[in-house]
Amino acid sequence: MNIVFVTSEVAPLAKTGGLADVCGALPAELARQGHRVSVVMPAYRGCFHQGLAIQDTGHRLELPIGQRLVSAQLLETTLPESDVPVYLVQQAAFFDRPGLYGEGGRDYPDNCERFVLLARAALELPRFFDMAVDVFHSHDWQAGLVPALLNIEYRHARGYSGIASVFTIHNLAYQGCFPSWDMAVTGLDWRYFNYRQLEFYGQLSLLKAGLVFADALTTVSPTYAREIQTPEQGYGLDGVLRERGESLTGIVNGVDGRVWDPATDQHLPARYDVTTWQEGKAECKAALQAEMGLAVDPFVPLIGLVGRLADQKGWDLVAQVMRRWLPHEYAQWVVLGTGQPEYHSLLGDLAAQFPGKLSVRLGFHEGLAHRIEAASDLFAMPSRYEPCGLNQLYSLKYGAVPVVRNTGGLADTVTDASAAHLSAGVATGFHFDHYDADALDATLRRAVHCYRFQRGDWEKLVATGMSQDWSWGQSARQYVAMYEQAVERKRNAASQAS
Ligand code: ADP
Repeated sequence: MNIVFVTSEVAPLAKTGGLADVCGALPAELARQGHRVSVVMPAYRGCFHQGLAIQDTGHRLELPIGQRLVSAQLLETTLPESDVPVYLVQQAAFFDRPGLYGEGGRDYPDNCERFVLLARAALELPRFFDMAVDVFHSHDWQAGLVPALLNIEYRHARGYSGIASVFTIHNLAYQGCFPSWDMAVTGLDWRYFNYRQLEFYGQLSLLKAGLVFADALTTVSPTYAREIQTPEQGYGLDGVLRERGESLTGIVNGVDGRVWDPATDQHLPARYDVTTWQEGKAECKAALQAEMGLAVDPFVPLIGLVGRLADQKGWDLVAQVMRRWLPHEYAQWVVLGTGQPEYHSLLGDLAAQFPGKLSVRLGFHEGLAHRIEAASDLFAMPSRYEPCGLNQLYSLKYGAVPVVRNTGGLADTVTDASAAHLSAGVATGFHFDHYDADALDATLRRAVHCYRFQRGDWEKLVATGMSQDWSWGQSARQYVAMYEQAVERKRNAASQAS
């Protein structure tokens, strides 16, 4: 198949979260399985500082953004260790900025225009390169307009009528909402601004555009696919999602073994696998304790946390439990994250009060994220909701036993250390159900108790997690099956219409 990915993030070119990991790895795996894949993304300023050679394709685009024609250039690089082309849409006024979506906690006011440009540039790709595309696979609200434009504007364009659109929801909470007058920026007729299509409580929602117009929808775990069809987790879009329930699939993300593998990871002071993890992790733990200013102690349970400092991730629970634990409990905490300013100060204050027991790094550090996974005994993810979550998968692979809330992708990927699961040899971590500090506290205590006093069980937990296969192969095959269905549906519909 010939597939075009449209996304606002691709690792290692531009990353704020899991979306980048997926769009950096899945296309390469699809290519390995014999498909032709191209990726389209914005040429942010940061892309030019990631050590990849970026060339000009010589192609110039003139794209309608509202009443204006905006010109852009198409640059090209390839995904590392693959021959997958990444086309970067260069438009200095739109993308040559310090941030991806905003600065200092504020979104850029012209984000609608910026991502309309991305969608329009991507849709021109088949014409530029004269290629027969089967599927446009777009991701999150930033690419939500692709299915809508394909369905409306490109419906009768030569070479486009058989192209299917697939839209993946990586996080339903980010909805790409803009004032109604931004409809003019999209270039779509106002008649699409109605509650069944692009309008969402009086605003324009680019996420909804994707949900309504794509031929197939996916999200990044089966449990999240069910959860977002309920009012509790549907963020107001559960009705739309229930209506499209037949076309919605959940496919769990994979781990890019080229980047995340403790046996080859260049960020680590010692490398290890499932047969050498005891020594390897001990060395990584001592090194990280020293690096982060924690007391160097091989026996203390080290709890790691890495992630965006957003409400979603459960930092309020973490802070409550830390306040209870830090004065008395025999445990260390290491935190890496960046995001909402209130969590920066909350965590910064706690770290200042309890040096040696809690170390906090506020920022984005790829290498440190790897070292925390390798050094930690436990890895906590008490998310309010979690579409898939990648860090718990990295934790499994790095032997940092995950302690997670039983939601979304966390529920689908971590098996609780109940007595039955332990004796069946399938346990890999610890679950809790209710989103409250007592539940997190009790579950961390259960995990720490196991770590300190039930070493046989602990070693089994670590080894079971490390032995699991979370590589992209299986997930990529599920995507291909879904692409094939979407293409068939699209072509049947097109032939019926003609
Ligand atoms: P989300 O996409 O909701 O942010 P995921 O768990 O799916 O959460 O993916 C997060 C990705 O971003 C992981 O690769 C994680 O290691 C990385 N990450 C998040 N915050 C940081 C940070 N401060 N420094 C380095 N990597 C980070």
